[in-house]
Amino acid sequence: KLILSNVSKSYNNTLVLEDINIKVNEGELVTILGPSGSGKSTIFNIITNLTQKDNGSVYIDGKISYMQQKDLLIPYKTIIDNVSLPLILSKENKKSAQEIVRPYFKEFGLEGYEDKYPSELSGGMKQRANFLRTFINSNDLMLLDEPFGALDSITKANMQKWLLNVRKKFNSTIILITHDIEEAITLSDRIYLISQKPSSIKAEFILEDKHKYEFGSNDYIKLKK
Ligand code: ATP
Ligand code: MG
Repeated sequence: KLILSNVSKSYNNTLVLEDINIKVNEGELVTILGPSGSGKSTIFNIITNLTQKDNGSVYIDGKISYMQQKDLLIPYKTIIDNVSLPLILSKENKKSAQEIVRPYFKEFGLEGYEDKYPSELSGGMKQRANFLRTFINSNDLMLLDEPFGALDSITKANMQKWLLNVRKKFNSTIILITHDIEEAITLSDRIYLISQKPSSIKAEFILEDKHKYEFGSNDYIKLKK
Protein backbone atom coordinates (compact mmCIF):
# COMPACT_ATOMS: atom_id res chain seq x y z
CA LYS A 1 0.00 0.00 0.00
CA LEU A 2 1.21 3.47 -0.81
CA ILE A 3 -0.16 6.97 -0.34
CA LEU A 4 1.22 10.23 -1.68
CA SER A 5 -0.49 13.30 -0.27
CA ASN A 6 -0.04 16.75 -1.77
CA VAL A 7 3.49 16.06 -2.93
CA SER A 8 5.23 18.97 -4.63
CA LYS A 9 8.68 19.39 -6.08
CA SER A 10 10.60 22.17 -7.78
CA TYR A 11 13.92 22.07 -9.55
CA ASN A 12 15.75 25.41 -9.63
CA ASN A 13 12.57 27.34 -8.85
CA THR A 14 10.62 25.56 -11.56
CA LEU A 15 7.64 23.68 -10.22
CA VAL A 16 7.78 20.16 -11.63
CA LEU A 17 5.18 18.39 -9.50
CA GLU A 18 2.25 20.17 -7.93
CA ASP A 19 0.03 18.60 -5.30
CA ILE A 20 0.32 15.02 -6.40
CA ASN A 21 -2.17 12.72 -4.70
CA ILE A 22 -1.87 9.03 -5.38
CA LYS A 23 -3.27 6.13 -3.41
CA VAL A 24 -2.49 2.55 -4.31
CA ASN A 25 -4.08 -0.28 -2.36
CA GLU A 26 -2.57 -3.64 -1.64
CA GLY A 27 -2.71 -5.89 -4.70
CA GLU A 28 -3.55 -3.08 -7.11
CA LEU A 29 -1.82 -2.46 -10.42
CA VAL A 30 -1.86 1.24 -11.11
CA THR A 31 -0.32 3.10 -14.01
CA ILE A 32 1.04 6.62 -14.07
CA LEU A 33 0.59 7.77 -17.63
CA GLY A 34 1.92 11.02 -18.97
CA PRO A 35 4.08 12.67 -21.59
CA SER A 36 7.84 12.86 -21.52
CA GLY A 37 9.12 15.32 -18.97
CA SER A 38 5.89 15.40 -16.98
CA GLY A 39 7.62 14.22 -13.81
CA LYS A 40 6.76 10.51 -13.73
CA SER A 41 10.25 9.32 -12.79
CA THR A 42 10.52 12.14 -10.27
CA ILE A 43 7.47 10.69 -8.48
CA PHE A 44 9.25 7.33 -8.12
CA ASN A 45 12.46 9.01 -7.02
CA ILE A 46 10.54 10.84 -4.33
CA ILE A 47 8.81 7.65 -3.15
CA THR A 48 12.19 5.92 -2.83
CA ASN A 49 13.92 8.94 -1.29
CA LEU A 50 16.41 9.35 -4.10
CA THR A 51 14.97 12.81 -4.56
CA GLN A 52 13.77 15.04 -1.77
CA LYS A 53 10.26 16.41 -1.98
CA ASP A 54 9.51 20.02 -1.08
CA ASN A 55 6.08 19.39 0.38
CA GLY A 56 3.60 16.67 1.15
CA SER A 57 3.88 13.23 2.59
CA VAL A 58 4.61 9.69 1.47
CA TYR A 59 3.26 6.66 3.28
CA ILE A 60 4.59 3.23 2.39
CA ASP A 61 3.48 -0.11 3.74
CA GLY A 62 5.56 -2.96 2.37
CA LYS A 63 8.95 -3.72 0.90
CA ILE A 64 9.64 -1.66 -2.19
CA SER A 65 11.66 -2.60 -5.20
CA TYR A 66 12.38 0.00 -7.84
CA MET A 67 13.23 -0.57 -11.47
CA GLN A 68 14.69 2.73 -12.56
CA GLN A 69 14.35 3.98 -16.09
CA LYS A 70 18.08 4.08 -16.58
CA ASP A 71 20.11 0.89 -16.74
CA LEU A 72 21.74 0.29 -13.40
CA LEU A 73 23.30 -3.10 -14.02
CA ILE A 74 26.79 -3.24 -12.57
CA PRO A 75 29.16 -3.44 -15.56
CA TYR A 76 31.85 -5.57 -13.92
CA LYS A 77 29.44 -8.19 -12.59
CA THR A 78 27.95 -11.01 -14.65
CA ILE A 79 24.21 -11.01 -15.34
CA ILE A 80 23.54 -13.74 -12.78
CA ASP A 81 25.58 -11.86 -10.17
CA ASN A 82 23.67 -8.69 -10.97
CA VAL A 83 20.33 -10.43 -10.62
CA SER A 84 21.43 -12.25 -7.44
CA LEU A 85 22.65 -9.07 -5.79
CA PRO A 86 19.49 -8.27 -3.78
CA LEU A 87 19.62 -11.76 -2.25
CA ILE A 88 23.32 -11.52 -1.47
CA LEU A 89 22.74 -8.14 0.18
CA SER A 90 20.10 -9.79 2.32
CA LYS A 91 22.69 -12.32 3.47
CA GLU A 92 22.01 -15.20 1.12
CA ASN A 93 25.22 -16.95 0.10
CA LYS A 94 26.22 -16.66 -3.53
CA LYS A 95 25.55 -20.28 -4.45
CA SER A 96 22.06 -20.46 -3.00
CA ALA A 97 21.24 -17.02 -4.44
CA GLN A 98 22.18 -18.27 -7.89
CA GLU A 99 20.03 -21.36 -7.40
CA ILE A 100 17.05 -19.16 -6.62
CA VAL A 101 17.43 -16.87 -9.63
CA ARG A 102 18.64 -19.35 -12.25
CA PRO A 103 15.20 -20.82 -13.09
CA TYR A 104 13.94 -17.38 -14.12
CA PHE A 105 16.54 -16.92 -16.84
CA LYS A 106 14.58 -19.04 -19.27
CA GLU A 107 11.32 -17.17 -18.69
CA PHE A 108 13.15 -13.93 -19.25
CA GLY A 109 14.80 -15.05 -22.46
CA LEU A 110 18.19 -14.80 -20.79
CA GLU A 111 19.12 -18.46 -20.76
CA GLY A 112 22.76 -18.87 -21.75
CA TYR A 113 23.58 -15.31 -20.73
CA GLU A 114 24.05 -16.03 -17.02
CA ASP A 115 27.81 -15.54 -17.12
CA LYS A 116 27.95 -12.72 -19.64
CA TYR A 117 28.54 -9.10 -18.71
CA PRO A 118 25.97 -6.33 -19.29
CA SER A 119 27.97 -4.90 -22.19
CA GLU A 120 27.51 -8.20 -24.05
CA LEU A 121 23.70 -7.96 -23.98
CA SER A 122 21.25 -6.10 -26.17
CA GLY A 123 19.26 -3.19 -24.76
CA GLY A 124 16.13 -5.30 -24.41
CA MET A 125 18.04 -8.07 -22.64
CA LYS A 126 19.55 -5.64 -20.20
CA GLN A 127 16.10 -4.28 -19.53
CA ARG A 128 14.84 -7.80 -18.77
CA ALA A 129 17.80 -8.46 -16.47
CA ASN A 130 17.04 -5.21 -14.70
CA PHE A 131 13.38 -6.20 -14.43
CA LEU A 132 14.28 -9.64 -13.06
CA ARG A 133 16.61 -8.13 -10.47
CA THR A 134 13.82 -5.80 -9.36
CA PHE A 135 11.44 -8.71 -8.91
CA ILE A 136 14.10 -10.70 -7.00
CA ASN A 137 14.60 -7.70 -4.74
CA SER A 138 10.92 -7.60 -3.78
CA ASN A 139 7.63 -8.67 -5.30
CA ASP A 140 5.68 -6.93 -2.57
CA LEU A 141 5.52 -3.34 -3.81
CA MET A 142 7.10 -2.86 -7.21
CA LEU A 143 7.80 0.48 -8.86
CA LEU A 144 8.44 -0.11 -12.54
CA ASP A 145 9.57 2.79 -14.71
CA GLU A 146 8.94 1.90 -18.36
CA PRO A 147 9.85 -1.78 -17.89
CA PHE A 148 8.86 -2.74 -21.44
CA GLY A 149 10.18 0.29 -23.27
CA ALA A 150 13.03 -1.33 -25.20
CA LEU A 151 11.28 -4.59 -26.06
CA ASP A 152 9.94 -5.88 -29.37
CA SER A 153 6.20 -6.49 -29.39
CA ILE A 154 6.33 -10.27 -28.87
CA THR A 155 8.82 -10.11 -26.02
CA LYS A 156 6.82 -7.26 -24.57
CA ALA A 157 3.61 -9.29 -24.62
CA ASN A 158 5.40 -12.20 -22.91
CA MET A 159 6.86 -10.00 -20.19
CA GLN A 160 3.51 -8.33 -19.62
CA LYS A 161 1.87 -11.71 -19.22
CA TRP A 162 4.61 -12.70 -16.81
CA LEU A 163 4.00 -9.58 -14.75
CA LEU A 164 0.28 -10.27 -14.53
CA ASN A 165 1.03 -13.83 -13.36
CA VAL A 166 3.45 -12.58 -10.73
CA ARG A 167 0.88 -10.18 -9.53
CA LYS A 168 -1.73 -12.92 -9.17
CA LYS A 169 0.67 -15.33 -7.51
CA PHE A 170 2.15 -12.93 -4.95
CA ASN A 171 -0.66 -10.39 -4.68
CA SER A 172 1.95 -7.78 -5.58
CA THR A 173 1.18 -4.11 -5.49
CA ILE A 174 2.50 -2.58 -8.68
CA ILE A 175 2.92 0.95 -9.93
CA LEU A 176 3.88 1.17 -13.54
CA ILE A 177 5.08 4.20 -15.44
CA THR A 178 4.44 4.35 -19.13
CA HIS A 179 3.60 6.75 -21.90
CA ASP A 180 1.97 3.93 -23.84
CA ILE A 181 -1.78 4.36 -23.52
CA GLU A 182 -2.61 0.92 -24.85
CA GLU A 183 -0.28 -0.69 -22.33
CA ALA A 184 -1.85 1.31 -19.52
CA ILE A 185 -5.37 0.29 -20.52
CA THR A 186 -4.47 -3.38 -20.99
CA LEU A 187 -2.54 -3.88 -17.78
CA SER A 188 -3.90 -1.69 -15.06
CA ASP A 189 -6.79 -1.46 -12.66
CA ARG A 190 -6.47 2.29 -12.55
CA ILE A 191 -4.64 5.00 -14.42
CA TYR A 192 -3.42 8.32 -13.13
CA LEU A 193 -3.02 10.64 -16.05
CA ILE A 194 -0.54 13.37 -15.35
CA SER A 195 -0.43 16.63 -17.18
CA GLN A 196 2.43 19.00 -17.64
CA LYS A 197 3.71 22.32 -16.36
CA PRO A 198 3.48 21.92 -13.49
CA SER A 199 2.55 18.30 -13.42
CA SER A 200 -0.48 17.32 -11.47
CA ILE A 201 -2.97 14.52 -11.64
CA LYS A 202 -5.29 15.50 -14.44
CA ALA A 203 -7.62 12.56 -14.34
CA GLU A 204 -8.08 9.18 -12.83
CA PHE A 205 -9.57 6.25 -14.73
CA ILE A 206 -10.89 3.17 -13.03
CA LEU A 207 -10.67 0.40 -15.57
CA GLU A 208 -13.32 -1.98 -14.34
CA ASP A 209 -14.69 -2.16 -17.78
CA LYS A 210 -11.76 -1.87 -20.16
CA HIS A 211 -13.73 -1.94 -23.37
CA LYS A 212 -15.40 1.29 -22.37
CA TYR A 213 -12.21 3.20 -23.06
CA GLU A 214 -10.43 4.21 -26.21
CA PHE A 215 -7.62 6.47 -27.28
CA GLY A 216 -8.42 10.11 -27.34
CA SER A 217 -6.41 12.82 -28.99
CA ASN A 218 -3.53 14.57 -27.23
CA ASP A 219 -2.27 11.56 -25.31
CA TYR A 220 -5.64 11.17 -23.68
CA ILE A 221 -8.09 8.44 -22.88
CA LYS A 222 -11.78 8.89 -23.34
CA LEU A 223 -14.95 6.99 -22.72
CA LYS A 224 -16.39 5.36 -25.82
CA LYS A 225 -19.70 6.80 -26.88
P1 ATP B 1 10.24 10.66 -19.44
O1 ATP B 1 8.92 10.09 -19.91
O2 ATP B 1 10.98 11.31 -20.55
O3 ATP B 1 11.05 9.67 -18.68
P2 ATP B 1 9.38 11.87 -16.93
O4 ATP B 1 7.93 12.09 -16.93
O5 ATP B 1 9.90 10.68 -16.21
O6 ATP B 1 9.91 11.89 -18.43
P3 ATP B 1 11.13 13.36 -15.15
O7 ATP B 1 12.38 12.63 -15.45
O8 ATP B 1 10.48 13.08 -13.85
O9 ATP B 1 10.05 13.20 -16.32
O10 ATP B 1 11.46 14.91 -15.24
C1 ATP B 1 10.48 15.90 -15.01
C2 ATP B 1 11.09 17.28 -15.17
O11 ATP B 1 12.02 17.52 -14.11
C3 ATP B 1 11.84 17.49 -16.46
O12 ATP B 1 11.58 18.79 -16.91
C4 ATP B 1 13.29 17.36 -16.06
O13 ATP B 1 14.11 18.14 -16.87
C5 ATP B 1 13.29 17.84 -14.63
N1 ATP B 1 14.31 17.18 -13.82
C6 ATP B 1 14.35 15.87 -13.51
N2 ATP B 1 15.39 15.57 -12.71
C7 ATP B 1 16.05 16.74 -12.52
C8 ATP B 1 17.23 17.11 -11.78
N3 ATP B 1 17.92 16.22 -11.07
N4 ATP B 1 17.59 18.41 -11.81
C9 ATP B 1 16.90 19.33 -12.50
N5 ATP B 1 15.78 19.05 -13.21
C10 ATP B 1 15.36 17.78 -13.23
MG1 MG C 1 10.99 9.10 -16.77
